[in-house]
Amino acid sequence: MRIVIASPEAVPYVKTGGLADVAGALIKVFRRMKKDAILVLPLYRTVSGGQPRLADTGISLQVPVGDRIIVGKVLTDDGAAYFIECDEFFDRPELYGTADADYADNSSRFIFFSKGVIELCKALAFKPDIIHCNDWQTGLIPLYIKTLHKHDGFFKKTATLLTIHNLGYQGLFPASHMPLTNLGWEMFTPEGIEFYGMVNFLKGGVIASDVLNTVSETYAREILLPESGFGLHGVLKMRESDLYGIINGIDYGEWDPAKDNFLAARYRDLSGKMLCKTDLQRLLFKKSHKGGKQRLPLIGMVTRLSEQKGMDLVMQAIPDILSSGARLIILGKGDERFQKGLQKVSDAHRDNISVTIGFDETLAHRIYAGSDFFLMPSKYEPCGLGQMIALRYGTVPIARRTGGLADTVQDFEPLSGKGTGFLFADYTASAMLDAIKRAFCVFTDGEKMQNMIRNGMKMDFSWEKSARRYLELYETALRKRRA
Ligand code: ADP
Repeated sequence: MRIVIASPEAVPYVKTGGLADVAGALIKVFRRMKKDAILVLPLYRTVSGGQPRLADTGISLQVPVGDRIIVGKVLTDDGAAYFIECDEFFDRPELYGTADADYADNSSRFIFFSKGVIELCKALAFKPDIIHCNDWQTGLIPLYIKTLHKHDGFFKKTATLLTIHNLGYQGLFPASHMPLTNLGWEMFTPEGIEFYGMVNFLKGGVIASDVLNTVSETYAREILLPESGFGLHGVLKMRESDLYGIINGIDYGEWDPAKDNFLAARYRDLSGKMLCKTDLQRLLFKKSHKGGKQRLPLIGMVTRLSEQKGMDLVMQAIPDILSSGARLIILGKGDERFQKGLQKVSDAHRDNISVTIGFDETLAHRIYAGSDFFLMPSKYEPCGLGQMIALRYGTVPIARRTGGLADTVQDFEPLSGKGTGFLFADYTASAMLDAIKRAFCVFTDGEKMQNMIRNGMKMDFSWEKSARRYLELYETALRKRRA
């Protein structure tokens, strides 16, 4: 099977979100499995700056974007990752825009990239069985295969898969950008890529790909509902029988408490974890915890500070959490209002809440290891990595029962003692506080808590498992394409 992964981001080259982990991990696992797979990315400035080894393939692509023909050069890293270079579009400080606004020509940039991927396959004589597209930036590829390339023998057998990493981002542009797609106005209808008077790139993939998936099974069902469908639930509902969920993995090379060099103690068992807890508290709090450092619960959060991540609930619940005697550690970056609000409460309660604003890899590792609980009260969560990392580090998740959180954390059952975390359903501070109370009850029962931690640490969230599921989905896509 010949596989093309088309993605706007992939580790280790360029990352702003979780889709970079998926694309990067898949190509790595496929190569290990000796699959015939390539990855195609735009050559952003950050990539060309950081990867001086890229080799020129000598291939130059002529890509129509509206009535212009734009030339793209093709570079490669190692024959598995290809980069489309076009300085006009990608030689910029950011990927998609500045803090103030998205780049005004994002439609042209990703029409160029999407068509570029198709042209690149031809230039390399790489006839794909599957083109695996990721998010709105590559959403038009399946539609191009079914329209502009309908009679193109080269793609006669090519099936397409669109992975939706976050439905909140769809690539919406004014109707006046429609001619740039070269699709013709007959596509600008509710059955096509028109969306409330705008052009919607993600919708191109939703209507035209052979199969679709999101990054968890629960999120795949949630996006069919008006409250979480971001206006696309109706169209997605029509594709329900082709819509799947595959949970992301985590990179155990990076996230393994037994080999983690960022930690005060590397551990497989709970004594090492205790050392990490002491170390973390020493680092972030001046005074030791009243009542003994270890006996009171420590809750950690490593997160984007955004509404999606449930920060409203956290802000409301902080007084109650602190009055329970627990300590709270938050590492995050994001919306100004949360940054300011958190800073203010932490100034007032320095002994019990620590807030670090910023992106800090080292501190993140130490929080995952040193906390007793990991709080993730997301409003919606397509997959979520934090809870899977926490489980690996023996840190018990307290999470909202939504999307990938519902699929990876098993709620604690007091009678059987089964479970790996604490879940709550309603998006309210009081529901979250109830879950925290349940968690603290178990915390005081050493044996139950230790069982729970061990259950969590044993779970397998490896990429190998997810990659095998993607391969099965590629087969499904091929079957549906042939049917
Ligand atoms: P997102 O929706 O932000 O992609 P995920 O839970 O899927 O949420 O992944 C977030 C990843 O980024 C996790 O690995 C988390 O540890 C990391 N992360 C988030 N914020 C920070 C931060 N401020 N500093 C360090 N790592 C962070």
